[in-house]
Amino acid sequence: MSSIYIKNVNIINPFSEEPIPERHVLIENGKIKSMHTKESSLYKDHIVIDGEDDYLLPGFIDSHSHIMANGFHKEDVMKDPLALHFYDAIANMKATIDAGVTTVRDTGLADIGVKMAQEKKIFPAPRLNISIKPLAITGGHFDHYLNSGHDMEITYPGFPAGTCDGVEGVLRKTREVIRARADFIKIMASGGILSPYTSPDFAQFNKKELKTIVDEAENNNLKVAAHCHSLEGIERCAKAGIKSIEHGTFIDRNAAQLLAKKRMYLTPTLIVHHVLIKEGFPAWDGFAESKIKKLKEVAKIQEENIAIAYEEGVNFLMGSDRGVIDHGRNLGELKQLVDVGLSPLEAIQAGTIEGAKFFNQENILGSIEEGKLADMIIVKENPIEKIESLADSDNVLTVIQDGRILKHKPIF
Ligand SMILES: [Zn+2]
Repeated sequence: MSSIYIKNVNIINPFSEEPIPERHVLIENGKIKSMHTKESSLYKDHIVIDGEDDYLLPGFIDSHSHIMANGFHKEDVMKDPLALHFYDAIANMKATIDAGVTTVRDTGLADIGVKMAQEKKIFPAPRLNISIKPLAITGGHFDHYLNSGHDMEITYPGFPAGTCDGVEGVLRKTREVIRARADFIKIMASGGILSPYTSPDFAQFNKKELKTIVDEAENNNLKVAAHCHSLEGIERCAKAGIKSIEHGTFIDRNAAQLLAKKRMYLTPTLIVHHVLIKEGFPAWDGFAESKIKKLKEVAKIQEENIAIAYEEGVNFLMGSDRGVIDHGRNLGELKQLVDVGLSPLEAIQAGTIEGAKFFNQENILGSIEEGKLADMIIVKENPIEKIESLADSDNVLTVIQDGRILKHKPIF
């Protein structure tokens, strides 16, 4: 593991809008060893990066991404060999790193093998907290059964099927996902916008089922994150003890107050709708027209509702839902969060320290502090002044993870 000395850099931590000017940062054994106000010549044997007047930030944490997915075109899964799915993901993970994301809470599909490959540093990839297979009800969002009678669900060793019903069914399924080594449980608690036969308006899983999943997860010291657009679903999830609501499209003021009171997280994934409306779906997608129609209807409503949630003091996580859309440019979500009311600093918090807190990793990740893991990025522009600059991967000059340089534009 190399030792790195970053000199002359301004540090932006998720604690203050004011950059800490001109620091010299020493990285040894994968950790931030020390930070100095005076430049030293002691470290000339280290890899020296001159930060010039650039900005050093903690590596970002994307709390909603699917690193294994490439558009969720299940038809691909039916025709392509399984191995291709894994090789394709290597490029997805490189794009994620290049965008400045060093940790991902993978909200479905990454399995323990992928996580182990990252830990072995076989290829550049974000640190992973995995949920493996989202739990879904029969006929719900992520049940891949079609009108034709074909079921496009795939399973393989370490990757169980996700559909389950009833108290006993969901208990068994939660245990199966935990056995497959999940770091958290992901469930589909309402219909989806992009699944052809479900409606985002309706809740999925009943109260008893939700409580059973949460109890079993908590019994294993794990949290539950729920894909949920429906208002009724959001309320059920909050009451059942779920810790993170994904998308949250139809949240209202009362439900937002409930989330704030229970100190739950909301991961709105606003950017995915913008990109899909702009770029559309492939021509062969027979559902493309109805999907775009659903999207346009909900995108505006969602922005208004998420702004209300912010007003009510709900805690946010930054999630890009990459995998539904192309990988890379994950940090475009920060600008979307600012557009619904968060300050640039709050958006950065949602993408760093708050993401670390979800997994009780705030002592090792999420900010630039002595003793923490050396996960960090160097960017050209001050994101507090121009948050949208982080959406541009070219503005992310350097990415360091675990004290290893995974991207460095000026040299390589
Ligand atoms: Zn998702």
